Amino acid sequence: MIEGNKLWEQTLEKFMAEQTASDTIDLLSEVSKVYKFENNLIYLIVPNALTKFRLEKFYNNKLNEIVQRLTNSNIKYKFILQEDIKEDEQPPLLIKDTINKRPLRAEYTFDNFETGESNRFAFISAMKVAETPESLYNPLYIFGDVGLGKTHLMMAIGHYILDNNPKTNVVYTSAQEFTEDYFLATSTKKGRENIEEFYEKYRSADVLLVDDIQFLEGKQGTQEEFFKVFEYLHGLNKQIVITSDRSSNELKNMMLRLKSRFNWGLSVDIKHPDKKLRINILKRKIGFLIEDPKVVPEEVLDIIADHFTTNIRDLEGAIRRYITYCVSLNIPFTVENVYVALDRLIPEKEVEVNKEQDNKKKFEKVKKAVSKYFQLSVSDLESSSRKQQITYARQMAIYIIKKLYNPVLKTIGESFGGRDHATISHSIDKIDKLLTSNSMVKTDYDILIKNIEEK
Ligand code: ADP
Ligand code: MG
Repeated sequence: MIEGNKLWEQTLEKFMAEQTASDTIDLLSEVSKVYKFENNLIYLIVPNALTKFRLEKFYNNKLNEIVQRLTNSNIKYKFILQEDIKEDEQPPLLIKDTINKRPLRAEYTFDNFETGESNRFAFISAMKVAETPESLYNPLYIFGDVGLGKTHLMMAIGHYILDNNPKTNVVYTSAQEFTEDYFLATSTKKGRENIEEFYEKYRSADVLLVDDIQFLEGKQGTQEEFFKVFEYLHGLNKQIVITSDRSSNELKNMMLRLKSRFNWGLSVDIKHPDKKLRINILKRKIGFLIEDPKVVPEEVLDIIADHFTTNIRDLEGAIRRYITYCVSLNIPFTVENVYVALDRLIPEKEVEVNKEQDNKKKFEKVKKAVSKYFQLSVSDLESSSRKQQITYARQMAIYIIKKLYNPVLKTIGESFGGRDHATISHSIDKIDKLLTSNSMVKTDYDILIKNIEEK
């Protein structure tokens, strides 16, 4: 029994050293206990069938290989469901703690944070703070809508600091937890003792991370208490990081003293991710979920990215659901299956209609800019004319549309008078080649892109 636990711990350690993917860690942390060790089999308890399925399918071999390497034997792991174990046989030892001892989610690291226009400044600022925690950026105040990565960035700071200096006392709390702590400290019989404990917890922080500060709105008593903690730590030059769903000026029913403190350091916001960032996040996520990310067609990413535009948590949830669906039913990663897997989350028709209208607008913009530049009309571009100037302009428009929006070729063809896939593909190749060999073409292209992007 004990030995089974030891082996599993060592296996995990080895495994983690080679693998840091967030979903893997999530998944393995669901293995709560070693059930028994019998006939060279170590039985691990998992909470549900899907977890069992994924562990068996993706990780069993690797885990076996590690334990066999460690023990020079042919020991294997076997997963069993919690519900299949009788009450009186439940093992006593919990080993969950071995995976993550920090008060931070293991996968919320800088390495796992994808950057784009919408979050670059916040990312850079967070990195700076992590590198030199006693900088002028105190406090660092990160704000933005829900699901955009505030908690992730904040915890990344914590991880980074602990990686470099494991002795640092990084205290993570949410404003809600802080409130509850304070409430417990003041409302129980032991009174004094508890409040001492409360102070000790927060005042001993070298780095204090406070999530979702907006929760303190209207809670005057807790604000007072937080103010004291803030003053104390700030006076000692301890780094404070705060997140919020709005800028400090927009906080309501919040002490002015406190609001002004939030402006002492640096305030950065995270905006909604653009398409490129959404696609990059999806790609990264897929890499965590399956071995060969390329088996998922670009169009699938496109559809998901087009639908989940304002919340990265939802975006991640959608791709995870799609992948899990296809894997567990052993069906191919097709476009059709997105609609089935995400049924109700994205009604098929709505997506198509939106996309069509969206494409129309985008293509129109490019066509207008190109025709104006070459002094032609939009209908010239869509016509079947083969005049050299018109052909060139048309090819350029097609190329730009592909470059900027990357739609499927069929859609481009339809918008240029029903041209077929091969013609569109030819146009794209043609301009691609000219761009490297002909500087005038390159100039046309650069000016056009600039014109379009300024629109
Ligand atoms: P918030 O605290 O702003 O509500 P979270 O930090 O909880 O948002 O992020 C929601 C989810 O999206 C998390 O799983 C997080 O890892 C993920 N996420 C957010 N931004 C990024 C990013 N730039 N790169 C990778 N994952 C991200
Ligand atoms: Mg959060």
